[in-house]
Amino acid sequence: MNKALYAVYGASGFGREVMPLAVNYLKKNNKVADLLFIDDGLAGETVNGYQVYSYQQFVDAYASEKYISFAIANSAIREKLSNQAKNDGIQAWSLAHDNVVKLTHVKIEEGGILCPFVTLTSNIKIGKQFQANIYSYVGHDCRIGDYVTFAPSVKCNGNIVIEDHAYIGTGAIIKQGKPGRPLTIGKGAIVGMGAVVTKNVAPGETVIGNPAKSLSRESMRSR
Ligand code: UDP
Repeated sequence: MNKALYAVYGASGFGREVMPLAVNYLKKNNKVADLLFIDDGLAGETVNGYQVYSYQQFVDAYASEKYISFAIANSAIREKLSNQAKNDGIQAWSLAHDNVVKLTHVKIEEGGILCPFVTLTSNIKIGKQFQANIYSYVGHDCRIGDYVTFAPSVKCNGNIVIEDHAYIGTGAIIKQGKPGRPLTIGKGAIVGMGAVVTKNVAPGETVIGNPAKSLSRESMRSR
């Protein structure tokens, strides 16, 4: 019988960080499987000892089952590639480092990547293809949409809503909301690194600084 085939999609910076989580998953679950990278820009190469396939090579390969973890920070690309894989009958692969802490009543949908030292506390709902980079946390009663991306050390306090495709930069701090009145980061919004977010962020808006302000308003002021 053919072995199962597992892949980390993206052999660039983040993909290389995710590969050890993939290796550990297969070891812990005693899976007899082949593991490789998929990267359309690096196909044919070897990265950190793993073969790199193009997506098409992966689709064409014989295997009993196929799984992909999408280790690409750009959420639009992640959505496109994961939908394509779903249509091709390939399963989404969720990965978490062994030291990730999930306290209680944490629900996270398919394809998430939880890097080392991530903490998710209590009563949290997270959509599909979430990425939480090293040292990020999500506090109680947060609702996080689909294809949301956290860079390293994001501090997402309690009662916060983060809508689909939002990107939160390294070291950003988001002030806690109130029960029934969450602080909301809108769909596709970008929070710059080190920003201190004290108010709602509108969909599509980019905010920077402490306290975080809209980048468009900031740039108008400095003219
Ligand atoms: N990539 C790909 N197919 C796509 C889009 C991106 O294989 O349709 C690969 C791209 O070649 C690159 C990786 O995904 O190697 C994304 O890496 P990048 O350095 O942009 O960001 P990272 O997510 O690793 O921080």
